[in-house]
Amino acid sequence: MELSRHSSIILSITIVTTFASFVKSSLPQGLQTLNISSEISTDPNITASFATDFGMLFNSTPGAVFYPSSPNDIATLIHFSYTSSKPFPISQRGRGHSTYGQTLVPDGVLIDMSSLGHTNYSRINVTDGPIPYADVGAEQLWIDVLNATLKHDLMPRMLTDYLSLTVGGTLSYAGISGREFKHGPQISNVYEFDVVTGTGEIVTCSREFNPDLFYAALGGLGQFGVITRARIALQPAQKRVRWSRLFYTDIKLVTSDLEKLISPDNNLSGIIDFVEGEVLLGVAQASLIGFTFNFTNSDVQKIIDLASDNNGPIYLLDAVVFYNDTTATSAEQKVDLLLKELQYTSGFAFSYDIPLLNFLNRLHYQETARSSQGRFHPWLVMFVPKSKILEFDSTVYKATLNGTNTVGSLLIYPMNRTMWDDEMSAVTPNAEVFYTTDFLWTTSEANDTKNITIKNNQIQNVGEQLGCKEYLPHFKNQVEWQKQFGNKWGKFVSRKMKYDPKALLSPGQRIFTPSG
Ligand code: FAD
Repeated sequence: MELSRHSSIILSITIVTTFASFVKSSLPQGLQTLNISSEISTDPNITASFATDFGMLFNSTPGAVFYPSSPNDIATLIHFSYTSSKPFPISQRGRGHSTYGQTLVPDGVLIDMSSLGHTNYSRINVTDGPIPYADVGAEQLWIDVLNATLKHDLMPRMLTDYLSLTVGGTLSYAGISGREFKHGPQISNVYEFDVVTGTGEIVTCSREFNPDLFYAALGGLGQFGVITRARIALQPAQKRVRWSRLFYTDIKLVTSDLEKLISPDNNLSGIIDFVEGEVLLGVAQASLIGFTFNFTNSDVQKIIDLASDNNGPIYLLDAVVFYNDTTATSAEQKVDLLLKELQYTSGFAFSYDIPLLNFLNRLHYQETARSSQGRFHPWLVMFVPKSKILEFDSTVYKATLNGTNTVGSLLIYPMNRTMWDDEMSAVTPNAEVFYTTDFLWTTSEANDTKNITIKNNQIQNVGEQLGCKEYLPHFKNQVEWQKQFGNKWGKFVSRKMKYDPKALLSPGQRIFTPSG
């Protein structure tokens, strides 16, 4: 008897706690009467587990977490908020691999997109044929899409470097990697998708049907709807790759080679399948090079010595040829040709042969290794016009970051703007060729985070002078967003008014303020 009274007190405390968090988060009571209410949790242990993201720089607990089992459930939630007298913000979260709180939604409902994948039927369906494609749930990770398509000897035409990102998440930015020069970003490699708009309407869109919403949502930072399914372009997959890593001490030589390799007018661009570059600021970063490649200890020592002798940054160029067993000889010939034509430091070319999947999923191993080095990720990614890359190098790598020992991948590689569709929301600089320069810092110290943020701000200031744009952008206010979008701002705002008029969706981007 005493025990059951005790349990009922505990139960009522639990109910009160749950109820209180509902009230605290200002979510309307009517939400509990919807047929999706069993998929909504206000359990503080659950909401707390969605209070931050990969960056670990921002914290804010959502009022509730929603686990939809279908796109219709998402439409019900959004429609309810849209028509409510007390509309509440909603954030669609892929895997929360953003770094500045873009998926956070204090006082609102966070949609855990991964729950769409917990079904008894496959959410990745491959169609072979002259134009092969895969229909995939937007909650799916690219690694799972890749594995499913490889079973058909196919692969997505464009993949990001890191594959544990969701389809909906990367389509909301652009989805870039060293295959951009061949196929453009991922947003250029999607035929159609389903999206639930900010009014709760489910719309299928493509270049032919509802093109305005198609263009708006691609690179749209989650502002125009929740993508639930996408039709992704595929191509035949090869089995293995020859991966060459070449080291340089001269920025002019490495950028001239990178540009040669991505130029449609140069025969070398036709023979490779992937090209990226990286800056190693000094000995500390050079000594971590073993993470990503099967360098021998003596190779690593040689690279450290190069960095030490150079007394400044050194550069790395990755050129990769994909091949099948039957094309192995021609792959070898291609690599020989590359090594003959490129201007790397003599003695600093390393070639390696691995299965395609190991290459495409290489960052999985790097991220696992790096996770022990820190949990904070104050990242910055800038798109720099080709004409400004030498100035960017001397101002940023050789001055602002001189002496920086923080761990991080500093990628640098050029992309062709012709591969991007300007109708889409994604923003690029005004240049035919522009570089992505990534500052992917990892640190375990909160203090270090502050120092890096100061450096990042200095880099942003340089970027502003040089006509750069940010990728994975984050800004404090609308004036800065307006600058980022430039002449695309007007269209971005009018599309927002059309597809999410109450600004309910993805408020963590801090572009618009939800009404209500
Ligand atoms: P989330 O972080 O969960 O969401 C990001 C934004 O998209 C939010 O605003 C969210 O509301 C919105 N969103 C999420 N799902 C949907 C959906 N279904 N419909 C509409 N909006 C949605 N980017 C690259 O381009 N290339 C890379 O190689 C690359 N490598 C990375 C490596 C690592 C280790 C990390 C952490 C990130 C990397 N990124 C890369 C950045 C990546 O594209 C972003 O982190 C992006 O946010 C994807 O992560 P996510 O799927 O977890 O999305």
